[in-house]
Amino acid sequence: MDAVVKVRGEEGGTEIRKVQVPSVGPDDVLIKVDVASICGTDVHIYEWNGWAQNRIKPPLLYGHEFAGHIAKVGSNVRNVKVDDYVSGECHIACGTCFNCRTGLMHICENTRIFGVDVPGIFAEYAKIPAMNCWKNDPKLKPEWASVQDPLGNATHSLFRTQVPTRNVVIFGVGPIGMMQVGIAKLVGARQVIAIGRKNRFRTDLAKKMGADFAILSAETDPVKFVKDHTDGRGADVVLENAGDAAGVTTCLRMLRQGGELSLLGVFGENASIDLSKDVVFKYANIYGINGRLMWDTWYRMAGLFKAGLNIDPVITHRFPMSEFEKGMAAMRGGNSGKVVLYPGK
Ligand SMILES: [Zn+2]
Ligand SMILES: [Zn+2]
Repeated sequence: MDAVVKVRGEEGGTEIRKVQVPSVGPDDVLIKVDVASICGTDVHIYEWNGWAQNRIKPPLLYGHEFAGHIAKVGSNVRNVKVDDYVSGECHIACGTCFNCRTGLMHICENTRIFGVDVPGIFAEYAKIPAMNCWKNDPKLKPEWASVQDPLGNATHSLFRTQVPTRNVVIFGVGPIGMMQVGIAKLVGARQVIAIGRKNRFRTDLAKKMGADFAILSAETDPVKFVKDHTDGRGADVVLENAGDAAGVTTCLRMLRQGGELSLLGVFGENASIDLSKDVVFKYANIYGINGRLMWDTWYRMAGLFKAGLNIDPVITHRFPMSEFEKGMAAMRGGNSGKVVLYPGK
């Protein structure tokens, strides 16, 4: 089968290669991939940044976001059957460590990730542990089903806080932030202010997803804007996705006293924060968010889709998987939401 493989440790270093269809162990399933989607993680691997150099050992089959149908099941598998329409949680948890046994499986001490630590799913067929399968509503669009990994990050971060009836800021409007705008509006936020840095294409998409306001911090002072729109108090909830170290202080300054800040961005450097002023005396609640709760977040996503969440505007590009390089270029260009790929084409 054709597969997208990181073949060399360098920028790019990627080829479409013929590889063997994986053989299935007793606890695994083989999935015929209908749609896959490119993640920021895949961009890091492609660009070969510091994180990728430390973590990735080429050759590696890319990808962890998908929707597909079960083609084969291992002898022990009971939870899914051939032809089921599934997506998958990309964190493979061990099930036996302290975190797994205390309700924190999403931060398993021994987490392995498809397309990072084990072969991924940018191919016609993919093998994953049956335990990682999530059965989709048969009516769910495959493109929507394929982006439940970032949608799950968005959902997890948002529901850590109290969004209904509140003034909510989405700080960082990549695909995750765009999806948070849609969720916040759907669940009854009083007002949603989306803040990007300088990419107008992305704030326009946040608008399409229902943001009451979508501003660029390069043009408009974001702290002043938020205060001006919240009776001078600041936002009840700030959902941070930007991973910008200096931006953390901006987030705290626009937060009201006693407000809630979820941090989901991955920071390349340390943040310097005035803890007394901006956290202690502010009585701020700060949450670190990682992964998706297994499996509470997945049930919540199913509920959001049932309740009418529409993420069509976020899916901006579609390519056959053979045109992976075009998809990657769209991701890296920044004028994109989610980019989806169709294998076998
Ligand atoms: Zn992802
Ligand atoms: Zn574990």
